[in-house]
Order: sequence, then structure tokens, then C-alpha cells
Amino acid sequence: EVPDVTVPEFLLAHADVRPDATAVVDGPSGRTVTYGELRRDVRRCAAGLRARGLRPGDVVAIVAPNGPEWLVACLGAMAAGGVVSGINPLYTADEIAPQLRDHGAPVVVTIPPFLPLVRAAIAAVGGEPDVVVLGEAEGATSFGAVLAAGGDGELPPGLVDPAHDLALLPYSSGTTGLAKGVMLTHRAIVTNVEQMQTVMGLTPEDRSVAVAPFFHAVGLNVVAGVTLRAGAAIVTLPRFDLEAFLGVIERHQVTIAVVVPPIVLAMARHPAVERYDLSSLRLLGSGAAPLSADLQQECAQRVGCPVGQGYGMTEAVAAITLFDAAAPVVPGSVGVLLPGVEARIVDPVTGEDVGTEGSGELWVRGPQLMEGYLGNATATAATIDADGWLHTGDLARCDADGDVFVEDRLKELVKVKGLQVAPAELEAVLRTHPAVADAAVIPVPDERAGERPKAVVVASSPVAAEEIVAYVAERVAPHKKIADVVFVDAIPVSPSGKILRRLLVAQDRAGALAPAAPA
Ligand code: ATP
Ligand code: MG
Repeated sequence: EVPDVTVPEFLLAHADVRPDATAVVDGPSGRTVTYGELRRDVRRCAAGLRARGLRPGDVVAIVAPNGPEWLVACLGAMAAGGVVSGINPLYTADEIAPQLRDHGAPVVVTIPPFLPLVRAAIAAVGGEPDVVVLGEAEGATSFGAVLAAGGDGELPPGLVDPAHDLALLPYSSGTTGLAKGVMLTHRAIVTNVEQMQTVMGLTPEDRSVAVAPFFHAVGLNVVAGVTLRAGAAIVTLPRFDLEAFLGVIERHQVTIAVVVPPIVLAMARHPAVERYDLSSLRLLGSGAAPLSADLQQECAQRVGCPVGQGYGMTEAVAAITLFDAAAPVVPGSVGVLLPGVEARIVDPVTGEDVGTEGSGELWVRGPQLMEGYLGNATATAATIDADGWLHTGDLARCDADGDVFVEDRLKELVKVKGLQVAPAELEAVLRTHPAVADAAVIPVPDERAGERPKAVVVASSPVAAEEIVAYVAERVAPHKKIADVVFVDAIPVSPSGKILRRLLVAQDRAGALAPAAPA
């Protein structure tokens, strides 16, 4: 049973007992915010937003890079009964507009440089939301003014019913289609943070780095949520830059980093890593996209601390499975089910349980699942069935010890003559080739086979396409052989570390992917 409290009450409990302990550090400037200061500002923000007209249930959109004020605005809005919806600050106005239209946020929080972007998105939607800037800017309400309007942060009691009221409206990453608004209650978030912290066991001495963006579950619910709940400190970084990230770990003696696979790849392979002292790290976590056992171990060896994986989705707040921090890491596994979570592995064709025999679609049920997708009952019904099982759309297997292995998304499997090929498996093999820095696999239509896998490769030294085809062919079953190779400068990934296969497929169909470069 989780306590019947709001997310801000749950995450800021340490303000009562250790008000002078550091809660958040702004990585670039080193400015610190204590638990006492954070709670005071959260309360003032809540009272200020109310004074300006915010009512329980109203959406507060945040379009800003990670920083201490992101968390103040987020927890402040939640304390006032608002529903926070983080928006990717790298989106264009055309990408932001559909989300604003979807939830009709009466308050949009941003930073001065993004004001033109936010204004363009608002103009496309219509309406006149209250635009609040973290800082100062002409014609917009400053965050300082909101805090000042909040006085000493008095709030009427009973504003929020944690079991039923929404706290967060994150959007799914939009990897497989249009991003959907995911309705999460205070209780769902409190539950998932508690489940994660039970397994991760952070202590007040820990320092984590928030490089994953706060608009995504990994940055907000895993990193910020678990760290604050534990009374530890979060160091925020506004964007991913490898050297800035490594510098922050060294300078702030970071002990825990939860990141996405492209960062694990960089930590394993990039020469800059040698120049930093990373000895403070005791744990590196990876989630949000597939990470191979090879790369996981390569990174652990280089960085000198265990690298564990977790698996989850926006629809489950953040995590569904997590590595057990108290046990040796099982390479390639996304860990075990969190306490209170049930799972089935179901044959996608027959609908029968496959047990520990083979792989199938992962179905999960648990106390941290979403209420549904905003304004989309059809999509909700297609995702959570009448018995409460969430059909994840992911292909997984589970061994007799309960270790879960996620193979790939069902939607992204390459269908070769009726057999399914997981791009992630081939990508993992490709990355073991000494001349391959990074790789993605996409389907290409094939007259005889239906589809065949095509490799999109970033080469670190000259290599012929034939050599890559032959290398993979020696290591996989015949139907998984690579049909074609193209070379590119970089693999496009989302901020949550997912390979943008839809984009690569579209580029490939349009003939925009370069033909194989000569060795
Ligand atoms: P959309 O649902 O809009 O297409 P999305 O599914 O990418 O986007 P998220 O909720 O951010 O949005 O991501 C959840 C998905 O990420 C999971 O369904 C799974 O495919 C993938 N994923 C998460 N963690 C892992 C992991 N450790 N290993 C493999 N895949 C993972
Ligand atoms: Mg999804």
C-alpha cells in the first residue's frame, strides 16, 4: 500500500527532516537548491498559479530544457491540482501545436529563447494561454512574478485527491505513430516511484545526473522521482553533450546515472571518456530502448561500475521491470518485474501463454498503469483489455529465474518469408564489427521474401558493404542475413534514445539514404 499523498508531498518529504540537504544542482552553473528551498518554491509556485487563475484539472505545459526550475514549476503545478504535460523543447511549432490543441493547456511554461517557438505554436492553435517564462522576457509573465504572487505558499487543504486526480499528462514518444497523451494519477506515479526505489535503494548520499529530458519518463519519473524520494541530489543538464555529461559526473561526484542506450554506446566507445575521472559512479542504468548484452558489458568494463537495464513505457508511468541492484547484473536482461506487477507472455497469433518456452507479446498488469489516453477511448481499449492487461506491443521472453528479455517491438520486426527478425538483434551483431561505430536495421521490400533486413551503418574505419554482409551472415540464421548496406554519418535517435526507424524507412523509400560508400 502506498501513502495517500500527492506527488509533491511524496517527493519532498525530506524537506521536513533534512531541509538543508541539497535537492537539485544546476549542472552548468553549479547553483544548488536545498530540499527546504525547493519545497518553499514549489508551494509558492502552486499558490501563485492559483492566484493567477489555475484550477484543479487544468493542464500546465512545460517546454523547457532540464533545470531546477523545471522541477519547481512541475511540482508546483501538481500541488495546485494542475496536470503537467512536458513537451520536447526540440520540437518545431508544428509538432508542439497538436499537443496544445489536444489538452488546451491554459498555462504554458517556457524559457526566453523558446518564446518565439511557443508563440508560433499557440498562434496555430488559437486561444490565449498564460505564458510564463523561467527568467524574464518582454510581454510574458516571469516565473519570479508567479512565485511572488504565491506569497508564503498557503494552499487550501484537500485540493487534490491522489487516488483519482491526474498529475501528469506525458506524451508517448511517437516512435510508432502519433504521440498519445497518457493520463497518470498522483497515485500511479507515487506507486511507480516507490516500486523503483524499493529495488534501486538510493540513499541520501547519492547524486544522480538528469541528462534524460524531464518531458520523458526516464528523466522525470526515474531520475528526478527516485532521487528526490530517496533524499539524494539531482544534477541537471539542459541537453546531452558527451563532454558536458562526463564533466558533470567528475565535478559533482555523481554516483548514479540512468541514461538511454546511445549514451551507453558513447560511454563504451568514445575516446573522450578516458579523459574524465568517473570513479564516483557506482551504477549506470539504461532503459527506453534495446541494449545488447555485449554493449552492456563493454560499457561496464570501461566505466568500472555495473550497467543495469530497466524496461517500461509511458503508459506505466516509467518502469515495469528493473535490474535488481542488490544482485549481479544479468547481461541482456531488462531485469525482473517490479513488486506488484504481473506479466504474461502471449503468442500474438493464438493468444495463448507461452510461459518460459519462447517469446511472445508481453502483457502487464499492475497498480501503476495509466487511466487511458486523453480523448482516445479507441486507442485505450486497444491497449488495456477488459481484464486490465496492458498489451505492450513488445516481443519478450522470461527465463525460469524471472529475468525478462525484451527483443524488440512487434511493429518493427522485419517479416522475412513469414519469419520475424528483430532489428535490435542484428544491430547488436553489427555493432560488434570493429569498423562499425553504430548501426540501425530497417525492412526493405523484397519480391521473394516479402521483406528483408537492410543495415544502415556508421563506419568508424573504411569497410566494404560485402564485408559487413558476410560478417553478419556468419553469425545469424540464414533468413536474418542482411540484404543491403548503406553508410551514413549518424543514426537518427529520439531524445529518449530510440532509433527513428520510421524516419530511416521514409528516407530509404525516397532514395535519400546514400548508396554504399566505397571502402
Ligand atoms: P509510441 O508509443 O508513441 O510509438 P514509444 O513506445 O517509443 O512511442 P515510450 O513510452 O517512450 O514511447 O517507450 C516505450 C517503449 O520503449 C516500449 O514499448 C519498448 O518498445 C521500448 N523500451 C523501453 N525500455 C526498453 C528496454 N529496456 N529495452 C527495449 N525496449 C525498451
Ligand atoms: Mg509505445
